[in-house]
Amino acid sequence: MQPFTGTFTQQEPIPESAIAAAVEVMRGGRLHRYNTEPGEIAPATQLEEAFATYQGARYCLACASGGYALSVSLRAAGVRPGDKVLTNGFTLAPVPGAIAAVGAEPVLVEITRDLVIDLDHLARRIEETGARVLMLSHMRGHLVDMDALTALTDAQGVTLIEDCAHTMGAKWDGRPSGGFGLAGCFSTQTYKHINSGEGGLLTSDDPEFMARAIMMSGSYMLYERHRAAPPPETFRDIRLETPNMSGRMDNLRAAILLPQLEMLDTNAARWNARHDAIVERLTGVNGLYLPHRPAKEAYVASSIQFLAPAFSPEDCERFVARLGAVGVELKWFGAAAPVAFTSNHHSWRYVPAQDLPMTDTLLATLFDMRLPLTFSVEDCQHIADLIAAEMGGGRV
Ligand SMILES: *Cc1c(COP(=O)(O)O)cnc(C)c1O
Repeated sequence: MQPFTGTFTQQEPIPESAIAAAVEVMRGGRLHRYNTEPGEIAPATQLEEAFATYQGARYCLACASGGYALSVSLRAAGVRPGDKVLTNGFTLAPVPGAIAAVGAEPVLVEITRDLVIDLDHLARRIEETGARVLMLSHMRGHLVDMDALTALTDAQGVTLIEDCAHTMGAKWDGRPSGGFGLAGCFSTQTYKHINSGEGGLLTSDDPEFMARAIMMSGSYMLYERHRAAPPPETFRDIRLETPNMSGRMDNLRAAILLPQLEMLDTNAARWNARHDAIVERLTGVNGLYLPHRPAKEAYVASSIQFLAPAFSPEDCERFVARLGAVGVELKWFGAAAPVAFTSNHHSWRYVPAQDLPMTDTLLATLFDMRLPLTFSVEDCQHIADLIAAEMGGGRV
């Protein structure tokens, strides 16, 4: 078989319509979101309205990054230093980092072999720790049974904040991810579903929460220029008691995101065609486990994960090296030292060490591959064939 020659980190170019919109913003010189002419609606404001509509959310705030959206949501939810905040034991470092940023303490929860939070362990951790906030990470785009999850958090009085960095455009039973709790936090960083280099979006239906988040983001006394926002009365008291922790999005980023938002559902289908082509070829390959995707989950699979449960660490290393030699770039989450990014709780030393035997066992043989839209469906079939061949080609 021929080696694969594509680049796993190469995204598609920014669409021409977005480039034109960016040039227009630059020609006007008004890059700051509050630098508007009379009657002008800034691109940042337009983006907030468009994304709130897309999500079916009442309010939206455009931020400097996804990580900022996460930390500001904790602050606006009233999390105080020393509070305990529950989160998945398998997520990307910005999630425990956002909890640490507000001086709170991450309480890590086990995951299942389908890479979602373990609801039994979550229930136990809520009882043991008394934590009242869950920052649920839809890591690698896998949605937990949101009916069961919200039944548990509602019954226990736990506030839910969703990390939707990998689920922009995804739905559970027809309802957009990010709309199940107090807030949804999204990223528009280059490796997510719409690309402005850096950026974040925060959605909520709660007026007081959103008024606080808007003040914190650095709206000065200009909050009335926001449109996907609660009415000015909501800000009356909040505006003077809420510190400014600047983290605004600028008009240039917003301008290039607006046309991309219109393409999101089309691109979601393109990602899924690539993902599903690989799943089809790897299903039944001896020695591989592919996470189960429930019927209620409408995913946006910009990456793919699988486990090789019988592999030793040496097998995993050899597997990554041999596939790397034929151009297939796999991320292995079981490596002792973090490579490129950290999703293993043992490398978050600012978090009190926690015992997560199930998560450790799963991460030990978990592999991940990005699926940029610059790959064709045929490229993905080629990649899957190389992986299947490396597994010996046997089928169950
Ligand atoms: C990327 C990412 C974030 C944060 O996004 P940034 O915009 O890079 O700050 C949060 N959670 C997960 C799971 C991510 O992958």
